[in-house]
Amino acid sequence: MTIAIKGEQLIAGESSRDGQITFSSVNPQTKTPLSWSFADATLDEIDRAVNVASSAFEETRDYPADRLAEFLDRVAVEIDALGGQLLEVAQAETALGKTRLSGERQRTTGQLRKFAALLREGSYVEAIINTAQPERQPTPGPFIGRMLYPLGPVAVFSASNFPFAFAVAGGDTASAFAAGCPVIVKGHPSHPATSELFGRAINQAIGALDFPAGFFSLLQGRSVEVGQSLVTHPGVTAVGFTGSLGAGRAIYNAAAARPNPIPVYAEMGSVNPVVILPGALQERAEAIAVGLVSSLTLGAGQFCTNPGLIFVVDGPQSRQFLEDVSQRLKDQEAGTLLNQAIESGLAEAVSQTQELPSIQLLTGGQVIAGESYCYANTVLQSTSAAFRANPDLQREHFGPVTLFVKCQSLADLLETMAFLHGHLTATVHADQNEGQVAGQLFQRLRDKAGRLIYNGFPTGVEVVYAMHHGGPYPATTASATTSVGMAAIKRFMRPVAFQDVPDALLPSALQAANPLGIWRIIDDHWTQNPFVRNEHPDIV
Ligand code: NAP
Repeated sequence: MTIAIKGEQLIAGESSRDGQITFSSVNPQTKTPLSWSFADATLDEIDRAVNVASSAFEETRDYPADRLAEFLDRVAVEIDALGGQLLEVAQAETALGKTRLSGERQRTTGQLRKFAALLREGSYVEAIINTAQPERQPTPGPFIGRMLYPLGPVAVFSASNFPFAFAVAGGDTASAFAAGCPVIVKGHPSHPATSELFGRAINQAIGALDFPAGFFSLLQGRSVEVGQSLVTHPGVTAVGFTGSLGAGRAIYNAAAARPNPIPVYAEMGSVNPVVILPGALQERAEAIAVGLVSSLTLGAGQFCTNPGLIFVVDGPQSRQFLEDVSQRLKDQEAGTLLNQAIESGLAEAVSQTQELPSIQLLTGGQVIAGESYCYANTVLQSTSAAFRANPDLQREHFGPVTLFVKCQSLADLLETMAFLHGHLTATVHADQNEGQVAGQLFQRLRDKAGRLIYNGFPTGVEVVYAMHHGGPYPATTASATTSVGMAAIKRFMRPVAFQDVPDALLPSALQAANPLGIWRIIDDHWTQNPFVRNEHPDIV
């Protein structure tokens, strides 16, 4: 490969390489180290990156939405300009395949452009106004106007399994930039060269549009200390993370233990329960099996929305279905895993699950020795009684692994839902005569998951305004927010209310004339109309 990868930290547009602990990425298809070398960011480099981000925020916190929108569009253009070399480098580091990677690039640039459109529309600042009530008795009511402001520098942890869309220029970064927040990315050590290319694209956009250089930095590293030092740095105001429950929880704990705790938006372990009702099986067992196997093996099962837990009512039909799904998975070649740690982590997680009572292995259950990192497509089965007794049966097996839970009856299935912990998604397959029980299931599942799916599969997360990609703990550390879709911007903004502040001193989003022309809630009604300030002499 002829692409020049420098292996340096990118701190406010400048390259730096002070660290002595070095690492390189490994081609997962061949298990051979790639030619480039990277170094762990040092404490001094981390400090520099956060300090320049804090300085940049002094400017970008007040940038008009149009300026930020232009920047997001430009980042998308620069990512497109990386052309084929991006796919080549990412393929060498992830083995995800160029078709998948091309699609992921479109998703990544698409979400940047969608955030730009959100900014241009303008009402994302959530301007809410209650006009003054000078005549109110016994005391007059004040003018109050409230809107959202950016938080400050955000630390973003790239995910291993989405090297574009949940990484250096992925959803966390795009939504933080959209809010006006500088971003310091901790690149994932599994694909540092891919991260470097994205970092350079962002720096191109910064240079072209004359943004402060500290608006973005990329820190690389493969030791826990880099991430920990970043999260505990006093200049960091929020964290976006996608990865394992262990790491997400450690980062959350570190942020909470700071003298000034900060929000951590961590998206972690989810096994995405799927309930298949008897009528649905009777009606279309084969179609469900095909869809399930395809969802389960997509990206070698390395998706946060992987359907890792399937509930059925026990009987001849569901037993036949289990056999069919197991056979299909056995017949399908297992995909390449992203790295050695994911392969060994998966092997360990499955073997720990197998040690629990009432677990049977139907197919798979072992590492496939060979040239690439690989784990056999795997089906485990258990019972509702065992599931209720063992919270560990909801452990994430990050790869092509699913666990069938056989329930004794519909009543048993409904009651078993109470034992689920938090997940990103929950799915119900039903036929048209099962509406009542499907409704009862959704009623229970809406307390357990952020997205409820009917007669579909959980993989494939649309980047749209209505999306919610989040869920109760342990799926995330902040169930009221989403990491996908336009609402993700809210994570990096906080409301400020202005009471009786004269119109001329207010931000334009709250001024009486509505100079931005945005939608606002004024005295409890949505409107784009101006209003009249009547309680204060104007300050000019
Ligand atoms: P990970 O181990 O959670 O690591 C993610 C990032 O967090 C890396 O940059 C890692 O950096 C950092 N990190 C890890 N432990 C940390 C700690 N204690 N303090 C601060 N930073 C820390 O995820 P991964 O490497 O992508 O994959 C490992 C496992 O994560 C998988 O087997 C899977 O179970 C899970 N995973 C889940 C999802 C999901 O969407 N649910 C996605 C990806 C992975 P260093 O390596 O430099 O420490």
